[in-house]
Amino acid sequence: MLASISEELTGLEQRSLRRQMHTFTQAGKARLFLEGKSLLNFSSNDYLGLARHPQVIEAVRQVLEHGGAGATSSRLISGTSIIHRDLECALAAFLHREAALLFSSGYMTNLGVIQALVGSGDAVVLDRLCHASLVDAVRLSGARLMVYKHLDLEEAERALKRSTSFRRRLLVTESLFSMDGDFAPLEDLQSLAKRYGAISIVDDAHALGVWDTKTAGWDVSVGTLSKAFGSQGGFAAGSREVVELLINTSRSFIFTTGLSPLCVAAAQAALNVIQQDPRRRDHVKNLSAQLRDGLSILGFDILGSQSQIVPIRLGEAGRALACADYLRQSEIFAPAIRPPTVHAGQCRIRFSVTADHQPADIDQVLNALKGWKHE
Ligand SMILES: *Cc1c(COP(=O)(O)O)cnc(C)c1O
Repeated sequence: MLASISEELTGLEQRSLRRQMHTFTQAGKARLFLEGKSLLNFSSNDYLGLARHPQVIEAVRQVLEHGGAGATSSRLISGTSIIHRDLECALAAFLHREAALLFSSGYMTNLGVIQALVGSGDAVVLDRLCHASLVDAVRLSGARLMVYKHLDLEEAERALKRSTSFRRRLLVTESLFSMDGDFAPLEDLQSLAKRYGAISIVDDAHALGVWDTKTAGWDVSVGTLSKAFGSQGGFAAGSREVVELLINTSRSFIFTTGLSPLCVAAAQAALNVIQQDPRRRDHVKNLSAQLRDGLSILGFDILGSQSQIVPIRLGEAGRALACADYLRQSEIFAPAIRPPTVHAGQCRIRFSVTADHQPADIDQVLNALKGWKHE
């Protein structure tokens, strides 16, 4: 039995798909230490640089002193405190919804929301490039999964038509796609959902706080506190009744400890900064444009448009790994994205630009890639 495990690992190795965890130490703004070397970090989802913002750290310190580290119980027993309620109200208001509910992570939010809304006999229409947590959620729910080609409205409509024989239908998309850096046509998709009587769900994980993706017309909006909010946790927002249903039936909400008050405090402080300080967003957008323009001059196959997620497509896993290694030698950390995160042959380097970067950092990336092209 155990020999077959080692064969499986060797197989992954041979296909350049074996993963490794490296141990990093934070080394100041947008920098990481790895094996004694300081690297410019282009792998962080802390898009607005809020994980270490002074207001965030101070808020966590205060809550730690008064409330302690853990929620100590599930939300439906005694794990709900006033700061949980306040953050839920603030998130609902931020997204123009009646109510919101916190979960322990974005992953668990998607499991909880989908499983509360559908089961066997129901159908979920999903963009092919949606995050693994959404695919897993549909599988666990027992509903029929109907996948349409990425961003393809005609295929989405055909799937919705086919779904009408099922009892309850969901249309699910991301707003900003995590590995492709492109935006879904939210208005068109939402009108399709309406036309075919499907409940619409948008996962706003990568846009939340950075882009105003106009999700208010969607029935349910799912977000994470672990990306631009720089904390940890997830939430769903929608009508009061949808949130009531989640509280009563989402297993990943009911059967787990409430979100740590430290994460709640950090997210609340981050939300305050997001609402007070639009300069962080503008800075990220300017830097992203600088990187996209420079890469395009170098002739790279850049995916997506505008967003702070800037992937360059390189093809096979070996090529993406070689590029990541070359960048590492140039003191830049940007991960090679391989299957199962993306489809085979679609391997890429994914740069994520954050408010902690400076224009000189973008120039450093462009110079390094110029060298790689000329090797
Ligand atoms: C990151 C991500 C999640 C999961 O969020 P976590 O809080 O990290 O668990 C869910 N959906 C999408 C689209 C994501 O990119």
